[in-house]
Amino acid sequence: MKRPKRGVPEGLWTRCPGCQAAIYKKDADRLLNVCPQCEYHFYVSAQERIGQVLDDGTFEEWDAHLQPADPLEFADQKPYKERLVAEQKRTGLSDAAVTGTGMIRARRVAFGVTDSAFIMGSMGSVVGERLARLIERATEQHLPLIIISGSGGGARMHEGILSLMQMAKVSAALARYDRSGGLFISVLTNPTMGGVAASFASLGDLVFAEPKALIGFAGPRTIKATIRLELPQGFQTSEFLLAHGFVDRIVHRARLKNEIAAAIDYCGK
Ligand SMILES: [Zn+2]
Repeated sequence: MKRPKRGVPEGLWTRCPGCQAAIYKKDADRLLNVCPQCEYHFYVSAQERIGQVLDDGTFEEWDAHLQPADPLEFADQKPYKERLVAEQKRTGLSDAAVTGTGMIRARRVAFGVTDSAFIMGSMGSVVGERLARLIERATEQHLPLIIISGSGGGARMHEGILSLMQMAKVSAALARYDRSGGLFISVLTNPTMGGVAASFASLGDLVFAEPKALIGFAGPRTIKATIRLELPQGFQTSEFLLAHGFVDRIVHRARLKNEIAAAIDYCGK
């Protein structure tokens, strides 16, 4: 059990995983949850992200009524059905993706975000279906499409093949969106892994990433154990992927909204 430090009210300070400094939470909050010492980008929830990127009060959620099911009656440490209820209660989300429409500096967009707090932001049927419908509406309504990924879990194993097919479904919807001339900006945040990285998150016309995010397919330990080679320095970070052409631009959280707006204008959308 963690012993609270004497004289310091719990919850006011946090340890930065980037620089190990003790950070006063309010200082980080003021900077959109970025470390004031080293600019480490802390986790932000889907709700906070909507507040940071979209103009105040403009977000309208789509397909909130879609609810996850348990078609395989899957159980690991606990039954998936119970896990879903526990995650919903803990996060206030019905599943790991929130989608809808809103304005970014007065430009209407179709907007989706995955939240790594909900079963690691993994893509099950609801995440896939919400994203596919988001993309289809963006196609019909000729809207720029912005998806911000925070998905450490990839495809959600609890729904087996039904999760895996979401990769193809969402990718096919993106192909139709692309043919209609749409602009898709994919924003990768820490972490974006597995079947999410291997489908929609990598398919942006423009791929932005937050600094020092972990981005990849299999985790570094798995790869190391498989190929038995030392991995290069900084492997699977935003910076490494920028250097190798997988990411187009690293964008500090404080500039994300402006950079998206500028990209939409630049592309004439
Ligand atoms: Zn730091």
